[in-house]
Amino acid sequence: MLERIRIVLIGTSHPGNIGGTARAMHNMGLADLALVAPRCEPLTADTVSRASGADALVHAARTVETLEEAVADCTLVVGASARSRTLPWPMITPRALGERLPEELAAADGRVALVFGREDSGLTNAELQRCHAHVHIPTNPDFSSLNLAAAVQVLAYECRLTWMAHGEAPAEKDDAQPLASHEELEHYFTHLERTLIAIGFHDPAQPRQLMARLRRFTLRARPERMELNILRGILSNTEKLARPEQPATGERASRGPEGD
Ligand code: SAH
Repeated sequence: MLERIRIVLIGTSHPGNIGGTARAMHNMGLADLALVAPRCEPLTADTVSRASGADALVHAARTVETLEEAVADCTLVVGASARSRTLPWPMITPRALGERLPEELAAADGRVALVFGREDSGLTNAELQRCHAHVHIPTNPDFSSLNLAAAVQVLAYECRLTWMAHGEAPAEKDDAQPLASHEELEHYFTHLERTLIAIGFHDPAQPRQLMARLRRFTLRARPERMELNILRGILSNTEKLARPEQPATGERASRGPEGD
């Protein structure tokens, strides 16, 4: 179970926090670390010193440019946030997150990503809107921002508690249908937006959070891969109806070089 949980750090600027994260993960039995566009050299003397013997996790970490790449194969993406945001998103507590893991990982191909933000500015709204849910570690409301590696420690501990209570491999359900991965969901959102523009329902110049709301709705539903394929089929047919047939070559030629 623990090997199917990935810790994702976005835009980290202090190597010591990467080392501290590796230590927190290794203490709790997690090993899969991804770094998205780090704003520092990930492996420095500070990293090694704060990792206290867990720097192998940093050596093995995957460094990528975007959140999408880091979580493409994940079926549940949870963003850790110290603050609440303008468009409220489903929130879970660290304990509820841990307790949800056996069920999540029992789904065929289930893989979970826990995403952490920058030390100075956290996660952007766009990044948070790519997550199924947000997790907030309860704190003193007057001082709510934990050190990055400390936040990783708290959530990694909850993962371990659940693993200790449930044992190693969660039984794969007989009827488990693969859930849509993050990458499949992103393709769907791109297709949906393009179609909504084509039928005149969505004006990107006046977005009014339409796509964010549709994202929230879709992510809350946790669609299976097959359900998403049906929705994409509907979008493809809608697009065909929305686009008048391309004129035949001869017709186009008769309009002259500029067309009309
Ligand atoms: N100053 C930033 C917080 C940065 S702390 C802000 O105001 O958003 C770095 C990261 O640690 C955060 O992006 C978040 O992923 C995690 N973190 C810190 N405190 C947290 C908390 N109370 N709950 C959940 N995540 C937290």
